[in-house]
Amino acid sequence: LQDQLREAQKMEAVGRLAGGVAHDFNNLLGAIMGNLGLAETALPENHPVQKDLARIQGAATRGAALTGRLLAFCRREAPESKVVDPAALLRGVAPLLLGLIGERIQLQLHIAPDAGAITVDPNDLEQALLNLAANARDAMPEGGFLTVSLRRSTAEDASASSHLSTAASDRVTIEVTDTGQGMDEFTQAHLFEPFFTTKGPGRGTGLGLASVYGMVKAAHGGIDILSSPGQGTTIRLQFPRTQGQPEPQETSARPARVPGT
Ligand code: ADP
Repeated sequence: LQDQLREAQKMEAVGRLAGGVAHDFNNLLGAIMGNLGLAETALPENHPVQKDLARIQGAATRGAALTGRLLAFCRREAPESKVVDPAALLRGVAPLLLGLIGERIQLQLHIAPDAGAITVDPNDLEQALLNLAANARDAMPEGGFLTVSLRRSTAEDASASSHLSTAASDRVTIEVTDTGQGMDEFTQAHLFEPFFTTKGPGRGTGLGLASVYGMVKAAHGGIDILSSPGQGTTIRLQFPRTQGQPEPQETSARPARVPGT
């Protein structure tokens, strides 16, 4: 417990620091882009330097997207938890998942009709599913299968989530499985840390699983990673089952940020 607390404090400190840097950096990018615009209009359209300006513009735009993601991560609004029907949420998010994974990857949805309701911020859960699907896509550059399933938890779902105090039948499992490259032990030990990424500069931010972790914790849930190199990966989320009537699923108030390619 002591370790977990220290870990949480460390994450919070890193988050605050990153938020501050991202904020200042965003202001600098604003100045760069503003002056670029001025320079572009000051020069004739076919001036050879226009090409250099366009390259600067491209890099600054990528920088702004990165700081945007950082700020969104660090300045997380308090979750707006509701009683949610996860089956309806999964069906609603499926078209976004399809758009994200492209044509080489096949999406399979397994939705048990009697899984039950959960209490979560629906926007956060949608975002988490998109983050998990983006990781699955990146792990399957040659294509494969992405399976998203929903069911009432069973005794076999316990594993590392056994700290969840409720019985399996009082939990709901949402699982995201890919047939991709899998992860070694080092990666599995570090993947929830903010900024931990194996994807190389400009490709990964290392914020995807850190924010999935935050979302699951806020909903009093648990998360398990089942993965081995070359065998694919399953990310299993479990949430306490809620006895309320689910609220009708409206379209997302906040637009989902589709993770970058
Ligand atoms: P990012 O995707 O920006 O790298 P994440 O926090 O989402 O950040 O993931 C951290 C790391 O965990 C990834 O860089 C990758 O090494 C590993 N990872 C996450 N999901 C998967 C997956 N489905 N298959 C293989 N590796 C994964």
